[in-house]
Amino acid sequence: MKKSYDALTNALPHIRDLHAYVPGEQPQGDGWVKLNTNENPYPPSPQVAAAVTSEIEQLRLYPEPVSAKLRQAIGERYGYSAKNVIIGNGSDNLLDLITRSYVCDPGAGHTVPSYSLYPVVCGMSGQTLIDLPFDRSMQLNIEALAASDAKVFFLTNPNAPTGVAFLLAEIEAALQAIDGLLVVDEAYVDFGGESAIPLLRDYENLIVVRTFSKSYSLAGMRVGFALASEGIIGMLDRVRDAYNLDRIAQAAALAAFDDVDYFEAQREKVIATREATRRQLDKLGWFSYESAANFLFTEPVNPAGETGAEVANELFNFLKERRVLVRYFPGHPLTCAFIRVSIGTDEQMQAFIEATQSWLNNA
Ligand code: PMP
Repeated sequence: MKKSYDALTNALPHIRDLHAYVPGEQPQGDGWVKLNTNENPYPPSPQVAAAVTSEIEQLRLYPEPVSAKLRQAIGERYGYSAKNVIIGNGSDNLLDLITRSYVCDPGAGHTVPSYSLYPVVCGMSGQTLIDLPFDRSMQLNIEALAASDAKVFFLTNPNAPTGVAFLLAEIEAALQAIDGLLVVDEAYVDFGGESAIPLLRDYENLIVVRTFSKSYSLAGMRVGFALASEGIIGMLDRVRDAYNLDRIAQAAALAAFDDVDYFEAQREKVIATREATRRQLDKLGWFSYESAANFLFTEPVNPAGETGAEVANELFNFLKERRVLVRYFPGHPLTCAFIRVSIGTDEQMQAFIEATQSWLNNA
C-alpha cells in the first residue's frame, strides 16, 4: 500500500515560511569571465596542493573534530588563545551557529543593503530580522543602529555589495551603543578594511567573522573562522556539527594561512587591479563607491547620459551575452541602478572594460 505525507504542512512553521538563499550563478562551460561572486582570480598558495595530497591516505579516518591546529594558528597570529577561535564550514556556517545559539528577540539586525544570507540564517532559527536602511551615502547611523533594539546585529565591514568600509571608531561606537552582540562580518577586510579583532580585548559583545574564501583563494574548500570571548566560542561549539571541517579543508586552510608571502602578493595584486579598474570607470564618468573589498559597485551611465534600473539591467544582460558575468541586484532602490563587479586578473578586467565599451558604442 502507498502512503502519502504532506511535506509542507508537517514542516516546522519557520521552515515552511523560509526563503532559501540564492547563491550567485556558477556558469557551466568554458570561456566565461566570471566576475559575479567575489572569488579570487588567483589560485591558492602552491603549498595547498602538497597539504591536500598528504591527507588523501588518511581519508579513511575521521578528521580531528575541532580543527585544533587551525584554531591555534589563528589565535597566535592575532594575539589570542585558541579558545577564542572557532572554525566553520565556510563563514556561512558560523553565521548560522550564531543565530542558533543566541536569542535575537525582538530580532537580529542588519543594514539594508548587506549580505543576503543574514535573513536566511535568522529564518532557519525562527528568529526575526530587523532592517536598518541605508541612504545613498551608505554611511552607518549608530544612533539608529542602537535604537533598532536588535540583540544580535550583523555588520558587514567592508560592506557588501558596496565595498564601503566603516572606521574602527564607528565599530567601537556601535559596540558601546547596542544592548547585545555585534557580529562584524569581515569577509572582505583583507582588501583594505580595518579589522575589529583588536577590539575583542575590551568588548565581550563582539564576534568577528572571517573567511578563507576570498583573500586566501579557497572558496571551493569552505573554511571560515570567528574570534570572540571564550564563553561565546563555547556556546557556538555546542551547536557545531561534530566534524564540520573535513581533513582536506583543515589541511588546505592551514597551508594557505602559513604562506604569508603568497597571501600578501595576491592581495596586493587584487587591490592594484581594483584601483586601475576604478580609474577606468571614473574616466567613463560613472559613480562607484570607494571600495575596500575585492569588488566595485558602480552605476552605469548609457550614451544618452541616463542611469537607473533599466540601464543597469541592460548592461548586465549585454555583458552576459558576451560571457562576462557580473552581479545585478534589482530588488532594492539603492542597488537596482548599479552593477557589482568582482575584481579578476588585469586581463579579465580588460575584457569587462572592452565589453562595456562596445555596449557604449552600440547603444
Ligand atoms: N559574508 C559576506 C559578506 C559574504 O559576501 C560572503 C560570501 N558570499 C560570506 C560571508 C560567506 O563566505 P564563505 O564562503 O566563507 O561562506
